[in-house]
Amino acid sequence: MQQVLIVAPHPDDDIIGCGGSIAKHCQAGNQVTIMYITSGDAGGIHYSKEELAALREEEARKAANHLGVSNLIFLRLADGYVEFNKENLINITCIIRDIKPDIVYIPHSQDGNRDHQVTHHLLMEACQRAGAPFFPECGTETWRITTILGYEVWTPIQDVHYSEDISEFIEQKLAALQMHISQLEYYHYDEAIKGLNCYRGIMITGCDYSECFTLLKITI
Ligand SMILES: [Zn+2]
Repeated sequence: MQQVLIVAPHPDDDIIGCGGSIAKHCQAGNQVTIMYITSGDAGGIHYSKEELAALREEEARKAANHLGVSNLIFLRLADGYVEFNKENLINITCIIRDIKPDIVYIPHSQDGNRDHQVTHHLLMEACQRAGAPFFPECGTETWRITTILGYEVWTPIQDVHYSEDISEFIEQKLAALQMHISQLEYYHYDEAIKGLNCYRGIMITGCDYSECFTLLKITI
């Protein structure tokens, strides 16, 4: 059994970037944890930030449960203002040393969204720190991660290193995405993601639907 950590800057990035892979890990009996950096409190203008954060956490729970995941961590940083700072780095490194994941999924390095970029850099640094015998403030048991994959949300990956056939899980992924009702009010991005996964399947993987990744770290 593998420990898998999915890191989502906002609720729904987990499903968009790797929802099919999450369902596949669950079916294989792997232990999946999803960590949400923010609760997406800036993702709308018709609610207060508190109302929207609560609503989006509830949507995230339903969507994750639909894929078979119940281990969720909400860091509740401010949506749109995620910072690369000491406090966040310590907190995230502590979580990694605690969960001890074999595989970590994060936004790829060229994603155009600001929170996604900062999340990428925070996690790359935290994963590296977790494995070294330094930083006792982050927990005293080191943990070396063998694989980090970068998923695509706002900016398609130009140089794909790895793909996962999710044909069997596309309906489950789309159903989970549609549970983010507050977000689909503005854009029908479930259609866009279905299209992207279809394109990836046909052009890259040789199947109906796939998710594509950059390989950020692998240790054999
Ligand atoms: Zn996002």
